Order: sequence, then C-alpha cells, then structure tokens
Amino acid sequence: MSKVAQTYLEVHPYKIIERGFHKERAQVSESIFSLANEYMGIRGHFDEGISNLPTLRGTYFNGIYDYALEPKRSAYLGIVEKTHFMVNSVDWVSITILINGVKLDLGVNEFKDFYRELDMTSGLLTRSFTYVDGDLHVEFTFKRFVSMLHPKNAYQVIKIKANKTCDISLTFHLDGDVLMWQSDNYFHDQGSFEEDRLLGLSLETLTTEQKVSAVMHIEGPGKREVLKGSKKISANYNLNLSANEEVTYTRTVAIEVDRFNEVETFKINEASAVIELRNSLARGIEATLKENEKFYKDAFETSDITIEGDDVNQQGIRYTLFQLMQTYQGYNPHNNIGAKGLTGEAYSGHAFWDSETYCLPFYLFNNPRAARNLLMFRYNTLEQAKKRALDLDCTGACYPIATLNGEEGCDLWQHASTQLQPSTAVAYAISHYVLVTKDEEFLLNYGLEMLVEISRFLYSRGDYNADGTYFGYYGVMGPDEFQLMVNHNTYTNFMAKKTFEFLESVLEAYENDESVQILLRELNFSNEERNNYKEAAEKMLILYDDETKLFEQHLGFYDLPNIDPKSIPVTEFPLYSHWTYDRIYRNNLIKQPDVLMFMFLYDDDFTSEQKKANYDYYEPKTIHESSLSPSIHSIFASEIGYEEQALDFFGFATRMDLDDYNRNTNEGLHMTSIAASWMNIVYGFGGLRSDGEFIKLNPTIPPIWESYTFKFLYEGQRIKVKVNKEEVEITNTGNKPVTIQIGKGLYLIENVITLKVGDY
Ligand code: BGC
Repeated sequence: MSKVAQTYLEVHPYKIIERGFHKERAQVSESIFSLANEYMGIRGHFDEGISNLPTLRGTYFNGIYDYALEPKRSAYLGIVEKTHFMVNSVDWVSITILINGVKLDLGVNEFKDFYRELDMTSGLLTRSFTYVDGDLHVEFTFKRFVSMLHPKNAYQVIKIKANKTCDISLTFHLDGDVLMWQSDNYFHDQGSFEEDRLLGLSLETLTTEQKVSAVMHIEGPGKREVLKGSKKISANYNLNLSANEEVTYTRTVAIEVDRFNEVETFKINEASAVIELRNSLARGIEATLKENEKFYKDAFETSDITIEGDDVNQQGIRYTLFQLMQTYQGYNPHNNIGAKGLTGEAYSGHAFWDSETYCLPFYLFNNPRAARNLLMFRYNTLEQAKKRALDLDCTGACYPIATLNGEEGCDLWQHASTQLQPSTAVAYAISHYVLVTKDEEFLLNYGLEMLVEISRFLYSRGDYNADGTYFGYYGVMGPDEFQLMVNHNTYTNFMAKKTFEFLESVLEAYENDESVQILLRELNFSNEERNNYKEAAEKMLILYDDETKLFEQHLGFYDLPNIDPKSIPVTEFPLYSHWTYDRIYRNNLIKQPDVLMFMFLYDDDFTSEQKKANYDYYEPKTIHESSLSPSIHSIFASEIGYEEQALDFFGFATRMDLDDYNRNTNEGLHMTSIAASWMNIVYGFGGLRSDGEFIKLNPTIPPIWESYTFKFLYEGQRIKVKVNKEEVEITNTGNKPVTIQIGKGLYLIENVITLKVGDY
C-alpha cells in the first residue's frame, strides 16, 4: 500500500494532543478535533477564526439538509437530477476578539505555547495559547463540548489573563451566515429574538423548509450590547482587563431543529429551544460535563479495547471507539451514520451500505439499541426505496447508494443505478441482527416487510440467461467500483441468493403464524412469487472452480488486461483523481474487497482453504483505494496466518485519520472505516465470527503486542476477552452463562475460562 503516516500528534492513551500549532495540518486538525453527539456535530475550527490558512468551519445537525439549487437535467431515465446534502448550519462558537483593538487571529498574530487537547473521557476540547504583542502577553483558553445526554445542549468557555492591563472586546455570535461547500448559504433568515438574558436566532433551510432555532446565554463580566445582523445575532462585551486578573466567559447554547416540519410556527420552535436552554442553565455546565464523563466511563466499560505493548495503536483504537460513541448512539431511528459522520462535507453527509456492513457489527456487540435503530432507519425510508425501484424500472424496494433522507442522493448513474449492494446489505444486516440478538419482534414487525420488498427488487432487477438455465445480474457494479456494467458479479449474485434464501427460511419458520400470514396478505405476497425467488436462488450463477477454489469476481474478470499495482507510481494515487474514469474500468485492478467481502460477511459458508486461495489471488490486485479495504484484508490475513500483512493493514485502519494516511482527513473523518478498525481487532485478531449458530472466537496475538483485551455484549451479558502471548482468558461478568465456540470447541462460559493461545 502506498500510504504513509503523517504523524504530528502526541501519543496518549485517552487524549489527542497537539503541542505547538501545526499550520500545515490546520484543516486536518479541524477534522480530528471534531465533536458530536448524534444530534449535532462541530468541526474543531477555531472559535475566533483564522485567516491565511485553509479552514472549513462546519456545524452540522443530523437530518438538516437541502437539495441542489439547480437540477442537473438528464435526457436518460433513472438518473438522479437533484441531489440532497447535509448543510453547514448555525455556528455557535463563533466569536470576534480584539486586544487593544487588534483582532485575535492566529493566522496573523504572534503567539506562543499553543496546546490543544481532546479528552476522550469526557468529550471536552481545550485549546490554549499566549497572544504576544511586544511585552503584552495574553493567555487564552478555549473549551467546548456537546452534551451526550442532552443532545441539543452545547457549551463554550473562554478564559483570558494578561500580564499587563489591556482592553479586550469580545463579540459572541450565533452565526447562520455560514457557507456550504465554502460557497453557498442554504438558509433563509427568520429573525433573531431576545428573551430575558437569552439571545436567539431562527433560520429555515431554503427548499426543505426545516426550522433551526439557536439560543445562547452568556455569563461573564462587562456590560452587554446586543447587535443584530442578517442571519446573525451577537453580544458584545468590552472590558479593561487588569494585569494578572483572570476573566471567564461561559456560553451555554441550545439548538432546536424541526427536521420533519412538524412544528407549526417558528415561535414554537424557538420556545422549545428556550426551554432546553433554561434546563441546561438550571443543571449547570459542571454537572453536564460530569454526565459526559459518566457517559464515556460507561461506554468504555462496555466497549474498551486495550493493547499492551503498542501505545500508538492503543491511542488509535481508543480514538476510533470514541468517534463511534459520539457519532451514533441510536437515540433516534431516523438517524444514520454518514461516511464522514458529522465532521465534514465530503460525501454530502450521506450514509452508504457501510452502515450495514461495516458499522452494524460494532453496535450489535456494544449497543444493540443503536444496531436496531440503524435498521429502523431503513424501515423508515422504505417508501423512498420503493419509489427508487420504480425509477429504475423495477419493483419492490431499492435502497440508495448514498442518502440522508432515504432518497437516492448519488447523481453518478454508474453507482446509483448499477450497485445493488445497499439493498443486499440491508437484507444481510437484518439476518445478522436477528441471528445475534434473537429480536423476533423486529423481524416480524419490520424486517420481514423489508425482506419481501428487497426480494421483489432483486428478482425484478435480475434475469435468467438466454436459455433460462441460470439466474443472475447483468449490467451491475459490485463493491469493487473499478468494474462497471459487468455481468454476474459474484458478490451481487451471492448476496441476492442469500437474501432469497433468508426470506424463504423466515417464511418456513412462520408458516403457521397468523400475524405473519396477515402481513403477507397485506403485502400481496403470492405463492408464485415465493417459488420464483426460491428458483432464482437455486439457479443463481456462482462462478466457482472447485479445483482452484477461486470465485471469479465477475464473468470475464480472468480475461481482463493485467496491471501490477506496484508498477503504478505513488504520485498517481488516488487513481480516481489521476486516471480518467474509463481508464480505471478497463483492467483487473481492484479498488476494495469484492469476492473477499461476501466471504467475510458469510464466513461460515467458506473453508479456510477457499479463503486462502481467494486472498492470495485477489489481494495482490487490490490497491485499497477505499478506506474500507485494509481492515477486511487484515481480518483475512489474521485467519490465514499472514501475521505481517495482518499488522500492516491494521496499523493503517486504527490511525487512518490521526496520521492522515489517505491525505484527505481535512475533508472530514472516515467514520465508517473507523468502524472497520473495531472489526479489525475483534474479528481479525480476536477471530470473532457471528454468522453461524453460535458466535465464535479464535484469538491470535500479533508478535509485537504483550497482550490485548476487548469486550462485547452478547445475549445481554458482558464478555471480556484477554489475550497474552500464552493464554486467552474469557470472562463473562453477567449472570447468565453463554455458549461461545472457541476454535473448534463449544464452551459454556459461566465465569472465566482460560485456554492456551492456539490450543483450540
Ligand atoms: C467506497 C464505497 C463506500 C463509499 C463511502 C467509496 O469510496 O468505494 O464502498 O460505500 O466510499 O464510504
């Protein structure tokens, strides 16, 4: 892999620390120091702004989005003409500071002792430095955090101390005049308001007409002057600061969004923001921060991973856990996880098939409510998926390749019209979720309906070959986005076959269940349909050769011109920005796992021999252009026993953003590949497999580690796995025994069992 770590942060088990301002990394740091709580997210931009350096000030609210103002008309059908995207919203940390009339701006001023830290035990972001103007030294400390328990609440604290008397002016803004894509603003001004000591601002998105009302309270010395502007309200404080006197300003903010236009008037929206703020003030900032500490303590108690002997990866994996916890907790079944979370504008805030294939396992084994709600997002957007299937001349439900609101948001037809993996991923995720949680209520009330509609889509999109002997998919793109309009992509065929078979197994299991029969009648599900799907599954073409044990990626893959990835100069990566689209499509280079991906998802269906043969054949052709790629390869390498490769791929996964391996962390964090780094440890080194009757473990330990531990929830019990060079210790801290397969043996774990590494 032609990826290089670009390190500049200090290594610490629970903190991300930047000592000294790394100007060349300014925008990367904005992503890394992002905060979120599922409801909102804010990049680590400087409160006071910065000039002369690239910056992306970004504040985002889950589900607040808009459409492109100009549709891209197409003469062809099935192509998305109007995309939608998450919009940059009200900036609640914005402030203008003057020191003796000079604007505070680290892009211009002289300063020293810059220090920035993100504390992963509380979600508190701190930044401090000393402003220098001749012999005047002014120390600034900025703190901010978002509440994990009261997601509409956010806080900013500013402390100032000078060695000499000076004049300070602070203007706190609630700024709705923010830019999306650094160029357009997507809000109508709905006016500002004042209530008692509170200042508020209301905005409405341009075409989706969603309401956003932000309100702030500022506590601090000096007389307040209120200033109103377009899409902005500000409070100015002037003070004459004495030498060595320290002043503190605390800004408490509440933001209410009405994403579904359920609230009749702005007055009502504003009133609920005010109530939120008053509750927040009554609770107090200290108490709210304590709640955050408890939130993270509990979350790490359930989910922590420790690595002894590798401090760098220890920090990396904690950071990924922290990001997963703060980005999505599943408190709202209308939220999903964007590929960049709430940390940037690349990928438009869209969620992809990543949610079901890469993120779901983390939540399944750490926060089952979140896992269920990730799937509920798909149920709640079933109508949009049905509409999309019709747009594609099909029936049933076609889940979008990229979305925020359930509609297809990708205007590249190559992806939106030919990639079926979001639909098969939803079906896969339903089966995976139900298998692990045994949540029958979900399956019968929501899962089954989605399965029926997905099967309808898959059947109508697939076809029999000319003489009717086999079924499969023509003109598709699999997960490997370097192959367009191929026939019989094995991933797609295999996943569709599994979908049909899963539906059939549910139908058989509930043959005599009256409520299921009622649902099927409501869905007009006929026996003929059922037989069609059964037959399609039986006749699905799976390109497999028992002699070589290889699955061909698609019909004709073996024939493609060969390019050795090692022959491509490093300067030509990423390929999508150096090679033309069509050049990428006409050779056998692979972007990310395709054959290996379905073998990973349905691990139980394949032998070790098959996994090794396919890894050996496909990995050398893979350039890992997607950040989703390395961890899956690391998991395979671990199982096969390629220790060095397993570690190489793993190092990339945990520190992908901290070390900016892909050179695009400035655009936002790779949230979904962050989820893959959890899988990398737990499925990779821990050997967890969760697609069989029992969950399995098969721990190994990388030679450079002394020991590692991971935890997960299974059947409501907390399980802890500790692996050192000699022993594996599995502890069940719950009160109910659980059955886990370890290696080849089945174990009932009541308290603790200890085994010799590899002796299973
Ligand atoms: C990958 C897709 C993925 C998307 C969002 C693309 O580069 O090829 O598989 O869904 O990124 O992460």
